[in-house]
Amino acid sequence: MVGGPPSRSAGLQVRGGLRFDGPRATAHAVRTKFHRPGDALDLYSRVVHPIEGAAPIEVAGCVVCEGARATPRFAVDGIDATIVECSGCGLGWFEPLPNPDEIAALYPQEYYGAPGAKFLSLIEWAVRVVAARHVRFLSAGLAPGAAVLDVGCGRGVTLSPLADRGFEVHGLEVSEQAVRGADPRASIRIAPNLAAAGYEAGCFDQIVIWHVLEHLADPKGTLLECHRLLKPGGRLVVAVPNFSSWQARFGGAGWFHLDAPRHLFQFPLLALRALLERCGFACGRDYHFSLRQNPFGWLQSLQNRLDPARPNRLYAAMHGDASRASVGGRLATVVPWLAIGALPAIALSVVEAVFRSGATVHVVATRGDTPDRP
Ligand SMILES: [Zn+2]
Repeated sequence: MVGGPPSRSAGLQVRGGLRFDGPRATAHAVRTKFHRPGDALDLYSRVVHPIEGAAPIEVAGCVVCEGARATPRFAVDGIDATIVECSGCGLGWFEPLPNPDEIAALYPQEYYGAPGAKFLSLIEWAVRVVAARHVRFLSAGLAPGAAVLDVGCGRGVTLSPLADRGFEVHGLEVSEQAVRGADPRASIRIAPNLAAAGYEAGCFDQIVIWHVLEHLADPKGTLLECHRLLKPGGRLVVAVPNFSSWQARFGGAGWFHLDAPRHLFQFPLLALRALLERCGFACGRDYHFSLRQNPFGWLQSLQNRLDPARPNRLYAAMHGDASRASVGGRLATVVPWLAIGALPAIALSVVEAVFRSGATVHVVATRGDTPDRP
């Protein structure tokens, strides 16, 4: 992931020594009610609480529509800020946003896992198989040797198969640790954000931001930089969780893809498309089915609803480095859910895609005219 300077910072505090500066009184009265001292800082076990019936608060300005009012929706244990929803466009974000140091602290060593071993080995294999299929989508229509940048390339599971197809592959990461074990054919830069990476204007044929935009403190600045870095007519592929999806509404505070506090923004599909247009892109098709993301999101969101005090146990059991339980104990958690739930979850994901309400979505956009800069 890469991050930019926060457009609004102040008042967010994470237990474990993190402090987000500057008070923001408007959200404070709402969030203190849910503050629970003494919780451990943990990757996936933070409890998210719905905020019912809150009145809209004044905000500095929505990134998408510049609206000045937003409604507090969720409070997150250990985070002294609330997730608010824009009254104009439905965008969600942490109000106030954390600063870059505090964001970095949300990604401890175990978030990335050992090289090639983030998940249980069988699941890791499946992730790589699905990634290879995904690459067929990403490479469709690209000229031989095209230059492709993956923003937030992580362990580079997408870059290797793109290199196999003869593309010139580039990756950007904020974390040196995250890229350990990446394919040596990939040219990877480590930088705190895209603008700081020092790429030249017009040097890429395609930029991919795959489930990264929602992690960034400055999504608009990142998209504007993508516009600068793409060749005329170049292609941008952006995937995000869909805050306006059926799954988001079903899951509520327990929606798996809320992924608080790492997801700083929550994009409804229409807000994402509006932001892309503002940043100078012509939006093409949006895609609503992801075998890698959407069925699991249904299962984990259901489990979270059934047992809201212990969120994301299924994911933690599948995440090899995040659980201290034995492999047998982890399988005992995972196997019944997958055996009973996998097919219904896949079927549900197909139906939601047909109705264009994918739990995660990806949009293909083309670099167009001058962006609508502030
Ligand atoms: Zn808005």
